[in-house]
Amino acid sequence: MDFQNRVGSKPGSGGVAGGSESNVDRRERLRKLALETIDLAKDPYFMKNHLGSYECKLCLTLHNNEGSYLAHTQGKKHQTNLARRAARDARDMTGAAVGGKVAVSAGATRVAPRKVAVKIGRPGYKVTKVRDPATRQMGLLFQIQYPETADGVRPRHRFMSAYEQKVEPPSKHFQYLLFAAEPYETIAFKVQSREIDKAEGRFWSHWDPDAGQFHLQFFFKGERGGAFGGMGGWDRQLVL
Ligand SMILES: [Zn+2]
Repeated sequence: MDFQNRVGSKPGSGGVAGGSESNVDRRERLRKLALETIDLAKDPYFMKNHLGSYECKLCLTLHNNEGSYLAHTQGKKHQTNLARRAARDARDMTGAAVGGKVAVSAGATRVAPRKVAVKIGRPGYKVTKVRDPATRQMGLLFQIQYPETADGVRPRHRFMSAYEQKVEPPSKHFQYLLFAAEPYETIAFKVQSREIDKAEGRFWSHWDPDAGQFHLQFFFKGERGGAFGGMGGWDRQLVL
């Protein structure tokens, strides 16, 4: 009766000690594993030398028989060298890659493709001056056309001070209202640097994904007759 691989056999009965694997068992297990997964004829690193023994051309190790070589291929040294080689190959390929596409070898260092945002130009837009008949507040209604946005993309907006933007010399009389939605270029409107009324219902935005239209409307705080005199409520649209 073979107690060699019996788990739970009684002490002293010749069974395995505490489940720990002897070196011989381990080698045999690795050899079997390798036999199932490796075809020596196709292994580029397996070489029989003129002395009748075997070499691993990757690790430059010497082996007395095929079993020893196969066990070696499952070991840490060989696996580490394989990973290094694969990473180097992936790097070499990166240089020759076309269109930023990089082949990634299994188990190798992953080469993350750089996210390249392809812009498709500026969105169409319409800006309308509005006036609240009750409060006599002046405001602006922006309608931005984003027909080509991907599913789930919601256009964003934000105000930027004249000193934060780097497109033109800053003027304390203006601030910028930016609109962004991939894959369109971010555009900005130069508006008077008056305080915006952020009270409930006074400032709203709406995104209609079916129509591809983003609406935003706000009122300036307080009423001032000259809001649209001179430079008007907004100056011009530009790309930031
Ligand atoms: Zn090796």
